[in-house]
Amino acid sequence: MMSDMNKVAETASSSLFPTYARYPIALVKGEGSWLWDDQGNKYLDFMCGLAVTNLGHAPKQVKEALVKQLDELWHVSNLFHIPNQEAAAKLLTDNSHADAVFFCSTGAEANEAAIKLARRYHQKVKGNGRNEIITFAQSFHGRTLATLTATGQEKVKEGFGPLPEGFKYIPLHDYDALEAAITDKTAAIMIEMIQAEGGVIPVEPEFVQHLAKVCKERGLLLIVDEIQTGMGRTGKLFGFQHYGIEPDIFTLAKGLGSGFPVGAMLAKGELAEAFNAGSHGSTFGGTPIATAVVKATIETLLEEKAAERAAETGEYLMNQLREKLAGNPFVQEIRGKGLMVGIVCGGPVAHIIAEGQKRGLLVVSAGPNVVRLLPSLLISREEVDLGVSILTSIFADQTAPV
Ligand SMILES: *Cc1c(COP(=O)(O)O)cnc(C)c1O
Repeated sequence: MMSDMNKVAETASSSLFPTYARYPIALVKGEGSWLWDDQGNKYLDFMCGLAVTNLGHAPKQVKEALVKQLDELWHVSNLFHIPNQEAAAKLLTDNSHADAVFFCSTGAEANEAAIKLARRYHQKVKGNGRNEIITFAQSFHGRTLATLTATGQEKVKEGFGPLPEGFKYIPLHDYDALEAAITDKTAAIMIEMIQAEGGVIPVEPEFVQHLAKVCKERGLLLIVDEIQTGMGRTGKLFGFQHYGIEPDIFTLAKGLGSGFPVGAMLAKGELAEAFNAGSHGSTFGGTPIATAVVKATIETLLEEKAAERAAETGEYLMNQLREKLAGNPFVQEIRGKGLMVGIVCGGPVAHIIAEGQKRGLLVVSAGPNVVRLLPSLLISREEVDLGVSILTSIFADQTAPV
């Protein structure tokens, strides 16, 4: 189906750092839920660039806003008012409990801003010197020094020491460990509503609510990393909206720009003064182009009722998978929320991913043993059925763990 030999040869002579173990496919065109490679092969996309192209590839309304902005103005410094940035921020605050938005360009940068805001709020506004952030085992928060330190997975930290101080890790759902970890130095607790990279592990609602209560009672800030779960992916605009909580700070990136690089850190109003003029910044944060894309992305998400559709389609997808994969000895569990779905398997799933590529379906893993499905929020039932039938045939051929 594809010329693996050529691709392997290409990789060997690449001028890039080998930071990614790349699949032997070069994708060159995308539309809706479909991608095409340079050999003319077509793929149904169940990964969306890792929860980025939530509206599918090249969504019309976003593309038009981008092209229009390209004709008008690309970049000015944040020393000037940027009308698109104001409008994009207003859309975000109008559709959440947040009052203030800081734009940046990536998820890690958004989480850096969240960590900095939490520390500075305690140190400058409250004057209490609190600086520790509690995070969770298996979490993923980014690749910069502070965010990889916040990450609860050892593999992302190897060889990068010394790491910044002030981070503590506890097991997910461990109430006693939480209690033991909180001291008069604790500034914030940082958590994903579904641990995505960690294996599509939804946090139990009682634990989420407990965290919110503990933070409120003890004067700690609750930071929710919505970089992968946000922008409709889990069936609500933001994942925390499933639990009736209002985090003090939350972060966005992946789905926020439909594929254009953009991130955002959002907070309640009382935190805004901690980031006064000159305290934080980013050259490319919220440029006229980036925020034209954000604005069009949010408008389209709302008009298309993308979150509601993700909730319905996700339930259908999970039911179909449970039905069709029932009794397969390699499949242990189907879990997730909305259109972030994990197929938990009894062993490594790399061959399932590779087989999907051969049969025209792109899926990704989450940890070694979980196949992660992240289709477009606007995917049709027919496309879901097709994806499920390809997965069913792959799992039928793969009945025993390898
Ligand atoms: C992807 C991701 C990040 C990091 O985002 P980058 O844009 O790669 O820096 C942080 N947190 C979560 C939950 C993510 O999924």
